[in-house]
Amino acid sequence: MPGKTTVTVHADREVHPDRAVAPPIYQTAAFSAEDAETFAQGAVEARGKDFYTRFGNPNHAQAAAVVAELEGTEAAMVTASGMAALTTAVLALVSAGDHVIGQKSAYGGTTSVLLNLLPRLGVSTTLVDQTDPEAFAGALGPRTRLILVETPSNPLLQITDLRAVADLARAHDVITMADNTFATPLNQRPAEFGIDVTWHSATKYLNGHSDVSAGALAGPADLLDRIWDTGLLTGATLGPIDAWLLLRGMRTLPLRVPRHNANGQALAEALQDHPAVSRVYYPGLESHPQHRLATDQMSGFGGVLGIEFTGGFDMADAFLGHLNYSRRSASLGGVESLAVHPASMWRGMLSDEQITDAVPPGLVRLAAGTEDTADLVADALAAATAVLTEAAIA
Ligand SMILES: *Cc1c(COP(=O)(O)O)cnc(C)c1O
Repeated sequence: MPGKTTVTVHADREVHPDRAVAPPIYQTAAFSAEDAETFAQGAVEARGKDFYTRFGNPNHAQAAAVVAELEGTEAAMVTASGMAALTTAVLALVSAGDHVIGQKSAYGGTTSVLLNLLPRLGVSTTLVDQTDPEAFAGALGPRTRLILVETPSNPLLQITDLRAVADLARAHDVITMADNTFATPLNQRPAEFGIDVTWHSATKYLNGHSDVSAGALAGPADLLDRIWDTGLLTGATLGPIDAWLLLRGMRTLPLRVPRHNANGQALAEALQDHPAVSRVYYPGLESHPQHRLATDQMSGFGGVLGIEFTGGFDMADAFLGHLNYSRRSASLGGVESLAVHPASMWRGMLSDEQITDAVPPGLVRLAAGTEDTADLVADALAAATAVLTEAAIA
């Protein structure tokens, strides 16, 4: 088995129809067929690549080949966004009358699918405390079809015991899906713990340059075929140029992730002792209540940390204003550091009450980029000290 960097540079080679070193961009909506038989074949080929771009495109197949290899799964597919990956999979796997289990701490869009979208379609949902493996068992019912987990969770960095959830689900014939956006396949591969489908907001680390919206799904071919069929109807098609940019971004994922990991760890350690900070959420800290579990299932802890300030929302907001390198932005996972106040960010997707249940008001999510570690730490410490000084004067 070649190393991860070799995989990201070569895993798509078999899906290249010509000898170009850098893959061409297939900026075409459709492909032609030689004869009626080939044409008819193209219309039914799951995860094909040369019938109609909504049905698949060589640039999709190339990006998907790398995702599957990195996640260690039989198959993968790419979509127009992370949310397109999630909604397409959920629509493929559940029907009216079914029940879905999700987590209390998860990306706001995922929470909104569970609380607002699925109930409208006649699918009941239960959100559980993911730090308690018993809670998943307690929520299981006769109509449970799917369990959605996210670990580490956005933005509280809570950890889900992937093996415990996968074993429970297998025993009850329930499908599991894990959002692996925060960890990346470099730090954690849910399939190794028995999770059926792994999905990503490829907008984040997989692409890594904050210039593409994309999603990815990885898992066994039979499940991916079902999701693919629904994807033909949801039309969650990734543009060929964006698929090309995603592939290009993934080439350097194994080079970027170690730096993100180092920056996240250094920032968490530096900020946890600062007097302006009441708590740092980062699975790489020994003080994280699930540090042992995180260490068991992850080989690195990523670039995202949650920081809670002693002065609540006002102090958190002032901190964001004082950061020089981390800009105020809703994304993460790119080479540039970004920071955000999650309680403000999700108001388009969740009600005020749903947000209050999900995140503390004084929490900042800091997503370390790949800048030099010492620069990011000095910047964050200076901003924390500045807000403390301002609070003392006020
Ligand atoms: C951003 C994000 C998503 C949504 O992905 P999009 O690409 O924005 O649609 C899903 N899960 C997590 C953990 C995220 O951070």
